[in-house]
Amino acid sequence: MNNKDFEILDKAIRRVKDFPKPGILFYDITGILRVPSAFKYCIDKMCEIYSSAGIDAVAGIESRGFIFAAPLAERLGIPMILIRKKGKLPGKKYSCSYALEYGTAEIEAHVDDIEKGSRILLVDDLIATGGTLNAAVNLMEQGGAVVTDVFGVIGLPFLNYEKTLGPKIKVKTLVNYNSEN
Ligand code: AMP
Repeated sequence: MNNKDFEILDKAIRRVKDFPKPGILFYDITGILRVPSAFKYCIDKMCEIYSSAGIDAVAGIESRGFIFAAPLAERLGIPMILIRKKGKLPGKKYSCSYALEYGTAEIEAHVDDIEKGSRILLVDDLIATGGTLNAAVNLMEQGGAVVTDVFGVIGLPFLNYEKTLGPKIKVKTLVNYNSEN
């Protein structure tokens, strides 16, 4: 990423200290959505990266992942899969629970939405530890699909998401921050 690309997004991303709890620096992507050129920049870049990547479907993680996954799926002309928190999807589902800092969470996807043998791109707004995406990989595998790629607008590589997701998955982000900023 060149300096100009970094600046476009960095300017639009709001930092909120101690949200949602003390010690967390929250990177808020609503600033990107307020600036149409910044949002368009994200979707254009995603198209550039994935238009020839052989992806069969885009899976978005509730809820901010949906914002970036849906326009990409539409532009690429491929299906979008919703990965939702427990209890939100009405049909027959696969589920996966995973550990949070305190307690556990569970995500689900419709059985019918996952095509056996398909190549999936997972999309979220931000990748921190990679724990949520790792559970999403498990969901897709329950349906016989393969997650080849993971995308986040923002990456926090110091939280070691690449290690969590393993060497087989290609991870792309548009802007990365270290523990200082
Ligand atoms: P993780 O499972 O640790 O990779 O966390 C990823 C999920 O938590 C994403 O859906 C993010 O939206 C959210 N998240 C985690 N850390 C932050 C942060 N510092 N700023 C904004 N969102 C975050």
